[in-house]
Amino acid sequence: MKVIVLGAGVVGVTSAYQLAKAGHEVTVIDRQEGPALETSFANAGEVSFGYCSPWAAPGIPLKAMKWLFMQHAPLILRPKMDAAMLSWMTQMLMNCTSERYAINKSRMLRIADYARISLAEVRDETGIAYDERMQGTLQLFRTQQQLDASAKDVKALAADGVPYEVLDPDGCIRVEPALKHVRQKMVGGLLTPKDETGDCFKFTNALALKAAAMGVKFVYGTNIKALDVEGGAIKGVVTDRETLRGDAVVVALGSYSPMLVKQFGIKLPVYPVKGYSLTIPIVDASRAPESTVMDETYKIAITRLGDRIRVGGMAEISGYTNDLGQKRRATLEHSVTDLFPGGDVSKADFWSGLRPMTPDGTPVIGATKVKGLFLNTGHGTLGWTMSCGSAKVISSIVSGKKPEIDATDLAVSRYA
Ligand SMILES: Cc1cc2nc3c(=O)[nH]c(=O)nc-3n(C[C@H](O)[C@H](O)[C@H](O)COP(=O)(O)OP(=O)(O)OC[C@H]3O[C@@H](n4cnc5c(N)ncnc54)[C@H](O)[C@@H]3O)c2cc1C
Repeated sequence: MKVIVLGAGVVGVTSAYQLAKAGHEVTVIDRQEGPALETSFANAGEVSFGYCSPWAAPGIPLKAMKWLFMQHAPLILRPKMDAAMLSWMTQMLMNCTSERYAINKSRMLRIADYARISLAEVRDETGIAYDERMQGTLQLFRTQQQLDASAKDVKALAADGVPYEVLDPDGCIRVEPALKHVRQKMVGGLLTPKDETGDCFKFTNALALKAAAMGVKFVYGTNIKALDVEGGAIKGVVTDRETLRGDAVVVALGSYSPMLVKQFGIKLPVYPVKGYSLTIPIVDASRAPESTVMDETYKIAITRLGDRIRVGGMAEISGYTNDLGQKRRATLEHSVTDLFPGGDVSKADFWSGLRPMTPDGTPVIGATKVKGLFLNTGHGTLGWTMSCGSAKVISSIVSGKKPEIDATDLAVSRYA
């Protein structure tokens, strides 16, 4: 089958790789000049199979109100007269019940667990390197209140069979030796030891090369304008250069996916939630993290990527804008220098990206009502983590095979 994958972010490239492996003739289209140049470029680098939860959770609306007024706020809200924003926020609030949280979390964990196996397979098959480490995520608590509140996460991890360790300050230092310099700033931590880290940009670029060697055609610098649909079935994709013909199309355009499918009455509740990162060269490795440390106070992830520290976080609801505010940079600098001052922040690269968020935190993976049109998008906070799993699922569905995990509740029809 001729399959066209729209988008060369981590989700599009992993999909293309799996589709090529399944024997399809695959073309990938992207407006950028290479892979992973938008949201997959400089994310926080966590591959968090265990630290994997929807943002819409009981108690979040109240917490969100407090976060908005913090000096180094993890949440920034810039309301607009935007129907998509209002509708998305309303749906997000409706997902903040215990019942919805449990359903959404179990779906996310299902994909993440499958992604863990699938990423290991890809590594074995290709031998690609991406500054990967397998040393877990440490959620760091600065207050007793945070530590106490983690009891419900511990319960959820135990119920889902995800390995974890509750650590006192000495335990945290054993895992992350650089924390010995700031022992007084923490009361404990929660370690998910099976989590990994790695550079999503390096991974996506290396995998795109492997996919190209398998015959996948990459068409860069090309704007996708519309889908060519006749008689309720996909015929191809209209770009600013040409119309490409295909038997199947997989939409993996991140935050820009909803616009393309809207004309066919497909309501895809994916909205951009902006985040920021700094990539800092390490000058003193003894004061740098070994793996990922999640600073619970600011909701900021600090990750070791080779000879760099990547610090990323914040959730800004402000529409489709990538502008870089110095106030956000100050928050990242504050969190990282407070715990891991082993980098030269004056030489850091500052970046922002738009997380393609669904209101229920779970990506949208599956068929649509248009024959031959498939979605693999809306991976929100954990697209790097889930990419290899969701790619295998969509490849099976496009190929007419039953996915190895239950995917019946992952398609866009779940919002009907
Ligand atoms: C600050 C921050 C930290 C994060 N940290 C983590 C983390 O630690 N772990 C994790 O798992 N995830 C993390 N994420 C989330 C993760 O980065 C995303 O979920 C993931 O990158 C989404 O990948 P994607 O391929 O769906 O989207 P993208 O990478 O945005 O790819 C979409 C592609 O579509 C192309 N495109 C869009 N519209 C068009 C068009 N009209 N024509 C042609 N091309 C088009 C774009 O050029 C782009 O290349 C983080 C995100 C942010 C912002």
